[in-house]
Amino acid sequence: MSEQTLSNLMHEDRRFEPPAGLAADANVKEEAYARADSDREAFWASAAERLDWGQKWDQVLDWSNPPFAKWFVGGTINASVNCVDRHVDAGNGDKVALHWIGEPEDDTRDITYAQLKDEVSKAANALTGLGVQKGDRVAIYMPMIPEVVVAMLACARIGAPHTVVFGGFSADALASRITDCGAKVVITADGGYRRGAPSALKPAVDEAVTKLEDDELASKVLVVRRTGQDVDWDDDRDVWWHEAVDNASADHEPELHDAEHPLFVMYTSGSTGKPKGILHTTGGYLTGTSFTHWEVFDLKDDDVYWCTADVGWITGHSYMVYGPLANGATQVMFEGTPEKGRWWQIVQDYKVTLFYTAPTAIRTFMKQGREIPDAYDMSSLRLLGSVGEPINPEAYVWYREVIGGDRCPVVDTWWQTETGQIMISPLPGVTAGKPGSAMKALPGIAADVVDDDAQSVGNGNGGYLVLKEPWPAMLRTLWGDDERFKDTYWSRWKGLYFAGDGAKLDDDGDIWLLGRVDDVMNVSGHRLSTTEIESALVSHPKVAEAAVVGAADETTGQAVCAFVILRDSAGDGGEDIVEELRKHVAKEIGAIAKPRQIMVVAELPKTRSGKIMRRLLKDVAEDREVGDVTTLADSTVMDLIKSKSSGSS
Ligand code: ATP
Ligand code: MG
Repeated sequence: MSEQTLSNLMHEDRRFEPPAGLAADANVKEEAYARADSDREAFWASAAERLDWGQKWDQVLDWSNPPFAKWFVGGTINASVNCVDRHVDAGNGDKVALHWIGEPEDDTRDITYAQLKDEVSKAANALTGLGVQKGDRVAIYMPMIPEVVVAMLACARIGAPHTVVFGGFSADALASRITDCGAKVVITADGGYRRGAPSALKPAVDEAVTKLEDDELASKVLVVRRTGQDVDWDDDRDVWWHEAVDNASADHEPELHDAEHPLFVMYTSGSTGKPKGILHTTGGYLTGTSFTHWEVFDLKDDDVYWCTADVGWITGHSYMVYGPLANGATQVMFEGTPEKGRWWQIVQDYKVTLFYTAPTAIRTFMKQGREIPDAYDMSSLRLLGSVGEPINPEAYVWYREVIGGDRCPVVDTWWQTETGQIMISPLPGVTAGKPGSAMKALPGIAADVVDDDAQSVGNGNGGYLVLKEPWPAMLRTLWGDDERFKDTYWSRWKGLYFAGDGAKLDDDGDIWLLGRVDDVMNVSGHRLSTTEIESALVSHPKVAEAAVVGAADETTGQAVCAFVILRDSAGDGGEDIVEELRKHVAKEIGAIAKPRQIMVVAELPKTRSGKIMRRLLKDVAEDREVGDVTTLADSTVMDLIKSKSSGSS
């Protein structure tokens, strides 16, 4: 990306120092950066020491055959033992692991670590009873109920890698994932609750099964009864959870697995194309997630942590299941989606202290207005996190002020399904945060921003975000496709992992994510980032959310097309809203970034993890057939936008 265009962007100068108390008592202090720099492997070895191992490792990192890393070579470990048994053994069996909150009001369950251990042990025995052996894959297609956590940990316990498929995905998406990773068993539920009503899941599994070509696939389907709705039943294949699991023994002697034993396969959210089966293994993944969870959220014994992510997304794996449970945290798990005041009611009722969500949710709440959160007592909160997309400076400041009472630091965490763990983030007790910046690579992580020739761009410049050293929770390969793994991530520049994101280093060397490099637009020879124009739009008081794409244009090569959602308080924005917003962008960034076209819409197409799918909007802007929508959270959104666009042109 050229310097000339980036130099006039991001003139953000607000700074937020860490609260004094948090800084004084922080789990990780400034010295960690230097300690990790002086001996990266020793740093990660000490992070691994926080876990319980069987056999200790002989070698921290084997990088003799890059890009195939092995961490904690020779070590043996069981992830489920680390997430449950060891807390019970340490005398914390009565500590609540999950405050589970169902979507229907008053449908709640508190589950202690001792209870979780029993449930996981029973489920492990039941899976073994269904013929699941170490190394077999299990697909999990479930709502946000405690059994999904139990199922994942039971798989980990017996060494059967799981692949969790988001419950909102179609039968086709499920069938293709079962096929790609060769899952022998599927764990599901009759249904789950969505927007106040039971919504069926089992029929999608039944349909997926008919699409499988191999009888070995999904030969057993274990079904949790959640909603009680009617389901079709195949006596040979289907098994009720409450029969198989509830009647199983709560004694299960766990086997220790090799540190590099596959833990799970997670398909990426598909914001940019066909999902990839990311493979994570056991020892390094658990080290990276548990350590960063303790580090970035400054987790203390009495914290109540809540990550709002769906378990079908990597954030649900790393920062709801494995990281927090390995740390013995007490957390909230909520079955529903964001509705007006419900989240804040939960924060108030459960005295949540650490809260982790996505920019898309924050912008939705901004749209609705601050009166809603203002009605709740959220003084328990002490730290806020963000993940999934760049957080626009305005959304960051709103989050900090309205949700965090201007007292809680915001950690903007950059990472990917592939990285497994948070890579770039402020340290809450150390970093003076800048709204919109993910700041620095965490201790032990080597990130840089480079140009086309893999040279560091240096402060004040933009380029490609790369990772220069292996890290414990890194993906090991793409399931069954080592070549695609090498091609996708390691082929652009020798020895560098290329993440696909553009970034800028500011004058202090802090990192600003600029969105996917594939989304960078070229307007009359100027390179413009989607994130920056979107942030400029969101800084207008009438705008809650914006998505920008570059559409082919005869005169300028590409032209900026914007889709905006207005705040509720703005009404329809008034007659001149489009012109007003075009001028605003010109003022904030420059005339070159002025959108050719702005469409006011009610919704934007998003993945379940809340990412805007710009490639679909680009199809609309270029008046093409809309591409693959299988990973959209709500597939009707595109029809709405298309009808609107044909109406307006
Ligand atoms: P696919 O790779 O199939 O297109 P995906 O990249 O959307 O799917 P994820 O692994 O869930 O799937 O998303 C990782 C991406 O999310 C990052 O590459 C980055 O673009 C974006 N991202 C995540 N966190 C942040 C953040 N804090 N700031 C900016 N971008 C972020
Ligand atoms: Mg990606």
